[in-house]
Amino acid sequence: MALSTKLSIRTNLAMLVGVCLVPTILAAAGILVYHYQRARDQQIIDAVSTARLITNSVDFQLSTVQTTLEVLATSSYLQNLDVAAFYAQATEVQTRSLINNIVFIAPSGQQLVNTALPLGKPLPKIKLTEVIARAFATGRTQLSGLEVGVVVKRPLVYVAVPVRSAGAVSHVLVGIVRAKQLQTIIDKALQPSDRIVVIFDKFSIIALRSHEAERFVGQSIAPTVAARLKVMNEGAMETRSLEGIDVMVAFSRSATTGWGAAVAIPRGALTAALYSSMWHLAVITGLVVCLGLGLAWQMGGRISRAVEKLMQSALDLAQGKAVQVSKLAFREAEALGKALVQTSEVLESTANALKSNESRMRSILQSALDAIITVDDDQNVVLFNAAASDMFGWSLEEAMGKPITVFIPERFHAQHFAYVRKNRASSEGAEVFGVAGEAVGLRSGGEEFPIEVSYSNVVGPDGTFHTLIIRDITSRVKSFKALERSNLDLQQFAYVASHYLKTPLRSISGFVQILERNYADKLDDKALSLIRRTSQAATRLEQLTDDLLSFARVNSNPKPFELVHSREVVEETIQLLDASIHSKGASVTVGDLPEVMGDRSQLVQLFLNLIGNGLKYCQGRAPVVHVSAERNEHEWVFAVADNGIGIDPKHHQKIFEIFKRLHTQTEYAGTGIGLAVCHRIVERHHGRIWVESSPGVGSTFYFTLPIESEQVP
Ligand code: ADP
Repeated sequence: MALSTKLSIRTNLAMLVGVCLVPTILAAAGILVYHYQRARDQQIIDAVSTARLITNSVDFQLSTVQTTLEVLATSSYLQNLDVAAFYAQATEVQTRSLINNIVFIAPSGQQLVNTALPLGKPLPKIKLTEVIARAFATGRTQLSGLEVGVVVKRPLVYVAVPVRSAGAVSHVLVGIVRAKQLQTIIDKALQPSDRIVVIFDKFSIIALRSHEAERFVGQSIAPTVAARLKVMNEGAMETRSLEGIDVMVAFSRSATTGWGAAVAIPRGALTAALYSSMWHLAVITGLVVCLGLGLAWQMGGRISRAVEKLMQSALDLAQGKAVQVSKLAFREAEALGKALVQTSEVLESTANALKSNESRMRSILQSALDAIITVDDDQNVVLFNAAASDMFGWSLEEAMGKPITVFIPERFHAQHFAYVRKNRASSEGAEVFGVAGEAVGLRSGGEEFPIEVSYSNVVGPDGTFHTLIIRDITSRVKSFKALERSNLDLQQFAYVASHYLKTPLRSISGFVQILERNYADKLDDKALSLIRRTSQAATRLEQLTDDLLSFARVNSNPKPFELVHSREVVEETIQLLDASIHSKGASVTVGDLPEVMGDRSQLVQLFLNLIGNGLKYCQGRAPVVHVSAERNEHEWVFAVADNGIGIDPKHHQKIFEIFKRLHTQTEYAGTGIGLAVCHRIVERHHGRIWVESSPGVGSTFYFTLPIESEQVP
């Protein structure tokens, strides 16, 4: 939709052509106009020069006439009034100059010689013109304006030269020049022919004109030019010619004779060159624009087709179809096409890999023995495998989209959501819970069953997914309970057995002692030996039942924990062992000991066994036992160290098992129950027990008890 408001490639290219060409065309037009102006100015300058040249030529011709006449005026024939001789001389001069005829005039106006008429023909008296009169009056040569001949009615100009006799002007010699004589000057200047060339006299009367001479010779030049000539002798101006043509006229007037020339160039001729150049430029521009637009159109079409093909390929790619790009018109488009094809191939192989991964995953999921359920962030099922279906009694179709709560008894819902909220953002591997049977599942029929759950999150671009791998631990819980029951039974049995065995054993022992004491003299040595061995066996059996009883008591007869000062416990233990300490010459020292929560009598039992062993397992040397405690971050670590025979590290684990002994009765008497009791007591107090020892160096038994404030009730 947004595309339609955008300009097409073709339009854009056409605009580009326009944008590129317009400045060029404008520049070309500007240059043309500039050149036209220069050419026009040059033409005007040339025209002014031509006008000046013509003026100079006219000046030259007239001054030649003037000089010729002035020389002729000094002719001796005139002084002597030898008319015939002068006639011949004047005719002779006339043929070599522009002068048409020469007239010799007396002050009365009487013509004495006129070369226009045959010699001897009577000559009329004329009225003296102003020019001739001025020549008489001033004694200086005078040039006329344009006049029209009296006889032949043709335009002419004449020069009146005073002829002196005895220092005074006696006559005037007049040389008449037909205006036509100056025609060659115009003809020479008439290039090109559309120019109008005019020669005018000092009164601005047209003497000669290149065009329509008959019509305008004798008339005044254009008034605008005449007015300008009053102000300046030379120049150019735009005006209208006498025949009504718009012209650019260049004019020049002689300062000596007052004659001048004008060269008029029709304005059309001046601008014709510009118009023709402009026309050519317009045609060329039109052609270039058409060519440019045509190319842009064609190029735009090729680009559009390439883009359409690429677009189609991109759409195919988006739809997962295989992309094929045929030959494209541009290198860049081909490169892009190749990239699309490569992308499509990569996508295809990725899709294949994904498909095979997915089918592998699916088969793993379906064949898994554990139920696997994945829910989205709204806790609705998005994945449900076959084992889940079997376990919860929902088909795949039924389960998909159902909330996870349908698989959890209602009383656990709040707990479940609290857990999910807490762990929503975490994706740090799986967390397993329910191992001890505290997690419960719900079958479609409403039956509850114990489960073990591994819970993990996958936080991805599509949101968070939670996967639960669920194991039905009904049978494990059952066996565990059965085992627990049988253990309890066994403990109960051991307790009852040792308890009930204790009294008859004590009786046997007592009776054997009475027998030995009262009948020793009546019995032979063999019988006495048997009685002694029976007594020893009874004592050992008694010890064994005592030990078994204390072992069984740890769990079967527990007392609630109380705050106990362990130092007091150790001191009580030392008192109980007092006899043994003295008999062995032992030393038992005690460091700082803390208060702990525990079963006081069991803690006494614990220290009794550990310190007792320290006193017992010392070959030949006086036992030294030290009891201490240190606190670490979470617990108290108690240590009972001795200087005894030590224990090989390979037995460090084994000795905590019941009945495990490292020595015979003759080496060291014992039942192999003491450390097992210690293990049980420490375990009941949520601690750990271990030994560090090397043979011959001594042993240190360590056990931990929780710090009082962190104690589990
Ligand atoms: P008992 O002492 O009755 O044999 P225990 O369970 O107390 O049974 O000890 C198990 C075995 O551990 C002993 O037989 C002995 O070999 C070894 N043992 C226990 N305490 C020490 C100790 N302090 N030094 C050396 N060995 C010891």
